[in-house]
Amino acid sequence: MKKKVFLCNEASFLTSGYGIHGKELLTRMHNSGKYEVAELGCYAAADDPRIQEIPWKFYPNLPRKDNAKGFADYRANPLNQYGLWRFNKCVAHFQPHIVFDVRDYWMYSYQETSPFRKYFNWVIMPTVDSSPQQTEWLYTFCNADLVVPYTKWAQYVLKSACGDKINMFEQPALAGINPNEYYPFGDKEDHKERVFGKRNLLITGLVLRNQRRKLIADMLLAYKKYLNGLLISGQNDLYERSYLYLHTTYPEESGWNLPSLLLEFGMMDKTYFTYSCKKCQNIISSKFQNSVVRCPKCNDLACSFPNPSNSITTDKLNEIYNLFDFYVQYAICEGFGFPQIEAASCGIPFASVNYSAMTEICENLGGIKIPVKRMFREMETNADRAYPDIDGTAKILYDYFTKLTPESFKAQSEQVRSKCIKEYTWDKVYEIWDKCFDSIDITTKKPWNSSEQDTTGNEAVPKNLSRYEFIKYVCDVIINEPNLFYSAHVQNLLKDFHSGLVAKNGTITGYGQKEVIEILELHLSSKVANRDLRLNPLLLEEKEDYITCQKPKE
Ligand SMILES: [Zn+2]
Repeated sequence: MKKKVFLCNEASFLTSGYGIHGKELLTRMHNSGKYEVAELGCYAAADDPRIQEIPWKFYPNLPRKDNAKGFADYRANPLNQYGLWRFNKCVAHFQPHIVFDVRDYWMYSYQETSPFRKYFNWVIMPTVDSSPQQTEWLYTFCNADLVVPYTKWAQYVLKSACGDKINMFEQPALAGINPNEYYPFGDKEDHKERVFGKRNLLITGLVLRNQRRKLIADMLLAYKKYLNGLLISGQNDLYERSYLYLHTTYPEESGWNLPSLLLEFGMMDKTYFTYSCKKCQNIISSKFQNSVVRCPKCNDLACSFPNPSNSITTDKLNEIYNLFDFYVQYAICEGFGFPQIEAASCGIPFASVNYSAMTEICENLGGIKIPVKRMFREMETNADRAYPDIDGTAKILYDYFTKLTPESFKAQSEQVRSKCIKEYTWDKVYEIWDKCFDSIDITTKKPWNSSEQDTTGNEAVPKNLSRYEFIKYVCDVIINEPNLFYSAHVQNLLKDFHSGLVAKNGTITGYGQKEVIEILELHLSSKVANRDLRLNPLLLEEKEDYITCQKPKE
């Protein structure tokens, strides 16, 4: 029997990081013939024509465009965008042996308490970007059937925190590139001349979202210090040829104020950005002009910074990497940091901050480690984050560019690409996941058609129980889900119940048995509501358009 595997993720036809990750894995799983695959695709609408091209079972997470009532329901809970509102119905319909998820914690944590947990193996790959991990998250990781470490660093952090309580796959799954999508151009200087109108420019590139975690202000300052170093040492020719290139987004609601920083550091004339035309998909590399500029190709006022809703294709991104002579990953932490391996695959030598997964990628690919000036504890995440040494960064750039020759570039470029192809390809990533799915014994879970009762019908709770005993009794006997007690959700509930006061929604309020019962009742009613779906999944086909919107394959 083929293993039935279900992925909840951003739709595999989207060009987001998660979308690409899903597409690369699902395509290989489907093509292997070993698996029956299904996908719950976030940000995909039921009437999106791309759904018909997908060769495996696809459930869209967005309603049809004209379904106003559907959109109102969708927006009622912010977790619905991650699949919450459709997850149970889709797994009840597909009835998988394995459900897996590779996204951020808050995007899949709702799956931990699905009433169907005993019918599927729940496999997650947490994006561990720093240490320590939040206590709540650790409960969830220990409660998963299998945790696949993203990197060796993630494996180390999780093992140190959870010990034997976590069931972890022995090999990190990593992430990858396709070497034929990210590759070095033979005519690099011609390419630069086409884009910048000049040859021999020396470009330091960064590919990054404009967000708090990415150190755009510090990078501008480090680059300014590098330029000053060139002027002071009389290297005017290098100074003239040196430019920073930020492939980023602007404006962003909670992002860096680019024009203000460029003015402050005197970097307006020394920094390039990517603009992408919404109308004709033309890409231009330009100094900062505004958030919207006129397209030189179609003459429409339609060029803006690329962002998730105006994203650029892989081949255009490959062209942008090929403008760079050096790549820098500059962030307070990374769970992986894809651009490092994309740049490496394009043969671009790179430097990354010496913390978290960035250290590991540097070590594997021969990248330069940017020294950390100081670690700090971030309040929102209670995790350690790193601030790189700005002077150290300027020195790395100075040493690199003052020694650079066409021959040394060629040698470094070949080396970084060949190491990248050895360590980080999607074929290798799939091999690990394939081994991981092979290792799962699907007979340990209850069959989906089991006639066993889901609930016991018990409703009375004995008197005089302690708070701990009360919640445990409700999980074990009333809801009949012993594992629910160990979930992050119920462990948090127990913590709040014990402490008696909770700070949320702007006030500090009392927390008692009434609140606890209300929350636990939601678990019970979700279980009762979903019970019939498991035994009669075909009922869903009559009621829900997203179950059947994909036409059957011949
Ligand atoms: Zn255009």
